[in-house]
Amino acid sequence: MSDTKTALVISAHSADFVWRAGGAIALHQEKGFEVTVVCLSYGERGESAKLWKQEGMTLEKVKTERRKEAENAASALGVNDIRFFDVGDYPLDLGRETQERMVDVIREVQPNFMMSHSKWDPYNTDHMNTTQFALECRMIAQAWGHNPGQKVLGAPQLYLFEPHQTEQMEWKPTTFLDITDVWDKKWAAIQCMQGQEHLWNFYRNVAENRANHFRRNSGGQAGGRAAKYAEGFETIFPRTVDVLE
Ligand SMILES: [Zn+2]
Repeated sequence: MSDTKTALVISAHSADFVWRAGGAIALHQEKGFEVTVVCLSYGERGESAKLWKQEGMTLEKVKTERRKEAENAASALGVNDIRFFDVGDYPLDLGRETQERMVDVIREVQPNFMMSHSKWDPYNTDHMNTTQFALECRMIAQAWGHNPGQKVLGAPQLYLFEPHQTEQMEWKPTTFLDITDVWDKKWAAIQCMQGQEHLWNFYRNVAENRANHFRRNSGGQAGGRAAKYAEGFETIFPRTVDVLE
């Protein structure tokens, strides 16, 4: 058993991990974590409007294009391992078979922490269904009676990444992560998403605003840490600590 720390990001569509957790991924890869990203779908039907507007487009062509973009983004972030489940989107097929595959990946990776979407997303039920799915798969991976003999999962935190239209999603950040040192990698990854160019600057603004919250919550005017770019996350589970600070 290796001592390498690992993380698992479960992304509904193939670009979500870039906007919402690209900084966290790049940062932890640099810190020696091995990050596995699972894209449940390519977002081929619901998040590829720009491609569909091109003449002669087919589902297979969109999927190929989106896969290429996601692989390029993953390599810009230094992702250790990216997997595509290709279960379709709008809606995702998260039935038994997909669940079994996901639980196998969780047990194989044994993540120190996991990441997925917000709990609520009325604009995009694929996102909130992915979070419910991630929680169910985490639970199954912890069960001693599931595939006895395999190593069961511990209790990794589940970080929920910031959704689009934050205020509509009942998402409340509990953690701000300074991603200033890896911003160049995230920005390069964002620019791999040619099909969604309309989101590039929006997500730079989000990172700048979250950096403001990082500064404010790390000490404010009494000496907060400087940060130019940050990502916010909501945590599901309590932390266990030896001392409060
Ligand atoms: Zn999405």
